[in-house]
Amino acid sequence: ANVPQGPPLTPRYPGITEAFKADKFEQKINLGVGAYRDDKGKPYVLPSVRVAEQKIVEEKLNKEYAGITGVPEFTKAAAVLAYGADSPALSRLAITQSISGTGALRIGAAFLQRFFPGDKKIYIPTPSWANHGAVFSDAGLQVEKYRYYNCDTIGLDFEGMLADIKAAPKGSVFLFHACAHNPTGIDPTPEQWREISTAVKQAGHFSFFDMAYQGFASGDIHKDAFALRHFVAEGHDLCLAQSFAKNMGLYGERVGAFSVVASSPEERARIDSQIKILVRPMYSNPPVHGARIAAEILTTPALYDQWLAEVKGMADRIITMRALLKQNLEKLGSAHDWSHITSQIGMFAYTGLSAEQMDKLAKEFSVYATRDGRISVSGITSDNVGRLAEAIYKVKG
Ligand code: PLP
Repeated sequence: ANVPQGPPLTPRYPGITEAFKADKFEQKINLGVGAYRDDKGKPYVLPSVRVAEQKIVEEKLNKEYAGITGVPEFTKAAAVLAYGADSPALSRLAITQSISGTGALRIGAAFLQRFFPGDKKIYIPTPSWANHGAVFSDAGLQVEKYRYYNCDTIGLDFEGMLADIKAAPKGSVFLFHACAHNPTGIDPTPEQWREISTAVKQAGHFSFFDMAYQGFASGDIHKDAFALRHFVAEGHDLCLAQSFAKNMGLYGERVGAFSVVASSPEERARIDSQIKILVRPMYSNPPVHGARIAAEILTTPALYDQWLAEVKGMADRIITMRALLKQNLEKLGSAHDWSHITSQIGMFAYTGLSAEQMDKLAKEFSVYATRDGRISVSGITSDNVGRLAEAIYKVKG
């Protein structure tokens, strides 16, 4: 009797799915999806995942519990993927499997809430992935914002970001999207990351990297890990949330990892013991199936190469759709500069369209996306890109 009705949990795609379903127009376009779609608009299971899964089924493994920190072959391989095979961080890395990227963020938040000295604040970019605020505040952290997006340039507010990093109390926690910033698709350049690293170091801040799109962003797993690896090389204190939802298409399998780069193997052991103490009362231990699939792919050379090609295939399709959308808009004679569509990276694009223009897209052209002007590029296909460009042109000019 004491449970009040909560507000609807839909800031993700408010009303889009319902409106899209209700629309009877055959060529309607859904640009609100948060998962990859192939060029026919269909969900995509990576062939490498099918092979790995088949192999695991054939091995007839038992279904015993994993340890608290998950499948060891998986966490070891996940660390190598993120930090690099010859990373100095590997020997002093505390890592645990997690319930995908969200679970990794949640463990990290709980860990910082418990052990990070000071005011229990975390700084996240404006805007950020819609769930960041809730994950961190539910874990008892106070969420603060730093400047990130400049709506005038539809680009990075680099000066504002640096200024906010410098103005925050020394020794604060900063969350960074490692690559393919969600929702804007706007990332700092390597040069800018170097400057950010210097500012963060000078202020003695602790960095929390959220890497939900490694490989999926540029098609190159090393390039996408640049910021993280640069920070490690510069000797930062940091932790990392990894997700295999996008780059392996393992969305519903919930495969991820949370890791902390310790200053020594001895500190690593202490952190490891505390992560176990945090995880045990939350969910005891993580599910094994998805982690076995990821481990199989990451540790079997032929399968690993196949996977790299498939990740690149997904990234390339997204990049091609961006280019086609821009080309089509230019061909129609649009007077606007659409270069941000191709300079942005990852699944999402910030079009710069207003909420009213987005409403018009939905009502008059059956094109559905969030009112902040963000479109999911994975909803664009060779078949619908022409019609999409026409709709945007008619709405915006
Ligand atoms: N972080 C960012 C920036 C994301 O965009 C997402 C998913 O959209 C996640 C984390 C977590 O996703 P998951 O919990 O499915 O791995």
